[in-house]
Amino acid sequence: MTTPTPTPTVALSCPPKEVGRCATCQQPCHRYGHGGNPLCKTCRTNVEAGRAKPTAT
Ligand SMILES: [Zn+2]
Repeated sequence: MTTPTPTPTVALSCPPKEVGRCATCQQPCHRYGHGGNPLCKTCRTNVEAGRAKPTAT
């Protein structure tokens, strides 16, 4: 039984073997290898936005 290849909703500029599912939204993303991230770009942006707290300077 073959697993259907996930169809990215965005163009992924990485080898198919480096494509994995986002840990949050399960969308295919560049997860493995050089430059890979367990979160897709959208979720990563959301996380970083949530982290953006005013720094005491
Ligand atoms: Zn995601």
